[in-house]
Amino acid sequence: MSPCPFCDNPKGGQPCGACGRAPSIGRRPCPACKKMTPLNEPACSHCGQAIRSEMRWKIPVIILMFVVAIGVSVLVRLL
Ligand SMILES: [Zn+2]
Ligand SMILES: [Zn+2]
Repeated sequence: MSPCPFCDNPKGGQPCGACGRAPSIGRRPCPACKKMTPLNEPACSHCGQAIRSEMRWKIPVIILMFVVAIGVSVLVRLL
């Protein structure tokens, strides 16, 4: 049995006996303590550091690129 990556419980489990998280859920490294924290939680499970979701800034960037692409295609047609 491998230790829980989210709460340092050495016994771990499926799900973890200490924190109840499944070790198979999506995870990411915390920018503050570098430990693995669940991807679907807004704060680090170790140090409580709030983690911004990567999707939160990716969605506006994707929309902006889409708008730029439409703008470019309209411009090409006008020229
Ligand atoms: Zn745990
Ligand atoms: Zn942390």
